[in-house]
Amino acid sequence: MSIDPAFPCTAPVLAIVIPCFNEQESIPGTLLSLLGVLDKLVSIGRITTESFLYFVDDGSTDNTWYLLSSIHKKEHRVRCLKLSRNFGHQTALIAGLISVKNKCDISISIDADLQQDPNVMDKFIESYLNGADIVFGVRNNRVADGIFKRITALAFYRIMSIMGVTIIKNHADYRLLSKRALEALTAHNEPNLFLRAICVQLGFKTGTVYFDVVERNAGVSKYSLRKMLKLAVNGITSFSIFPLRIIAILGVLIFGLTALMAIYVICRTLLVGDTVPGWASTTLPIYFLGGVQVLCIGIIGEYLAEVVNAVKQRPRFIIETELF
Ligand code: UDP
Ligand code: MG
Repeated sequence: MSIDPAFPCTAPVLAIVIPCFNEQESIPGTLLSLLGVLDKLVSIGRITTESFLYFVDDGSTDNTWYLLSSIHKKEHRVRCLKLSRNFGHQTALIAGLISVKNKCDISISIDADLQQDPNVMDKFIESYLNGADIVFGVRNNRVADGIFKRITALAFYRIMSIMGVTIIKNHADYRLLSKRALEALTAHNEPNLFLRAICVQLGFKTGTVYFDVVERNAGVSKYSLRKMLKLAVNGITSFSIFPLRIIAILGVLIFGLTALMAIYVICRTLLVGDTVPGWASTTLPIYFLGGVQVLCIGIIGEYLAEVVNAVKQRPRFIIETELF
């Protein structure tokens, strides 16, 4: 891809935003690689020398903050934000994006374990210089994932697609956002921002960069099953009313079936007269309806929780310190 000469853009200030939760093992390697990427991008004139790395410590309980703050003292291109506790990956990323919004021209978000190949960042910037405001990093394959991660990821994309939530398959949170896109994104004040879907909805011209996923450079995954489920449920409840619609459809179906059954029982009583009140026809509907009701209440509860969170308008994250 060559750069469009018609696009009036000088080299931008790049902020690489890296959320970290207990990443003391991966930070040294990640830092070296990312500083190398910055050097390379500066040397080929893609970004300015004011470009920087922005680590967000999402309430780590290990030495992550100690490491980051000592690196900051020696390396001016390393800036860091410390959240007061663990708010979760999506919130940590949003905190980082909000904080760099007025300090850069473009941001690229990437995980601290560098599973996403940082060497393709020049392609992201090329796409930006060609006019894209949002560039999505899309993984080529899932060979680096274990079987559990592959199955849950596949189920996640299937469910999202059934629920009508538009997300880009195999795109996580490795993405470039221009200043305009950052402004648009951070104008969304909802408490559970599901970035993968919101960024697709923002509009603007978009680009795609493909990359290979590798194993974590150090440490173990910080995405527990509980955190993955929370992300999936937030994604559905904040982007789809399909579960609520299922309740309505289920209600209509149950009403129709009950009406048919009632007609059958009445006709049989009148015409044949051999109906003995049976165990099955008495108890099964009770169990069935009990189950359906609990399920429906559960789904409504999920949405209610969203409303409760939105009404409370609590801050999404709390900053303890910023080293800039
Ligand atoms: N992360 C975070 N807060 C959390 C969990 C994870 O900031 O509560 C960060 C983590 O440090 C990493 C990124 O989110 O930079 C992705 O996490 P991880 O690599 O553990 O997820 P996986 O690749 O296993 O899905
Ligand atoms: Mg990872």
